[in-house]
Amino acid sequence: MQNTAIQVRDLQKSYKKLNVLKGVNFSVEQGSIFALLGSNGAGKTTLVKILTTLLKQDGGTAIVNGFDVASQPDHVRQAISLTGQFAAVDEMLTGQENLIMIARLRRLKQPRQVADELLTRFGLIDAANRRASTYSGGMRRRLDLAMSLVGTPPILFLDEPTTGLDPEARIEMWKVVKELADGGITVFLTTQYLDEAEQLADRIAILHEGKIIASGTLAELKQLFPPAQKEYVEKQPTLEEIFLAIIGKKEEH
Ligand code: ADP
Repeated sequence: MQNTAIQVRDLQKSYKKLNVLKGVNFSVEQGSIFALLGSNGAGKTTLVKILTTLLKQDGGTAIVNGFDVASQPDHVRQAISLTGQFAAVDEMLTGQENLIMIARLRRLKQPRQVADELLTRFGLIDAANRRASTYSGGMRRRLDLAMSLVGTPPILFLDEPTTGLDPEARIEMWKVVKELADGGITVFLTTQYLDEAEQLADRIAILHEGKIIASGTLAELKQLFPPAQKEYVEKQPTLEEIFLAIIGKKEEH
């Protein structure tokens, strides 16, 4: 249990008659990257909302950083941060001001120093004094991620972190996420991009029709599928092959 960052058992959630989660089970190891895959409407955001205490489940349990999301939501909130698809950056403020604001809200002692460290780490120090409205999509997303790391929460939820980014910014984002996990942070990410899961995740779970229908490492998932079928094509022998075969036979007898 000590090394488990997230433990989900028989989690259920309905919106009126719509049964979205029908008994979801999985666990996430500390310091690993876990990718939840599923098509649009599968219930990924619903699951993230429950794990981040924004929504109550109807049944089952979810333990995050050792705390029950339903009965100890305040403890859970202190251990996590959530970065959504739509960056929570204040466009009118500079990158540095955005970070200082969050550091103050979290009552950190040296907000400016915290801000500058994060700006450096996310390659934004040169743009520190520019308004966020002048940032590219990738820069904004990095600033958003930096803001969610103020106060170094051990578990990071990323809901579709690269949706809408160009390929270069996506690769940059993947690099940052990998570095965070290397530094011991647990990353729970949802994605619709299979290549993102392939690139980043230590373990992958597929949510489909309310349940986790498959989970494991990429190699384990690949083994679930039968090997590529071999196709036999009749090949006409060449005259040379016929000749050699006849000769060979004749020599044998
Ligand atoms: P995903 O993130 O995988 O796209 P969601 O968790 O957003 O899936 O949604 C799962 C299903 O629940 C969808 O069919 C969606 O329309 C529905 N849904 C989500 N939120 C609500 C809500 N507040 N009220 C009613 N239905 C909802």
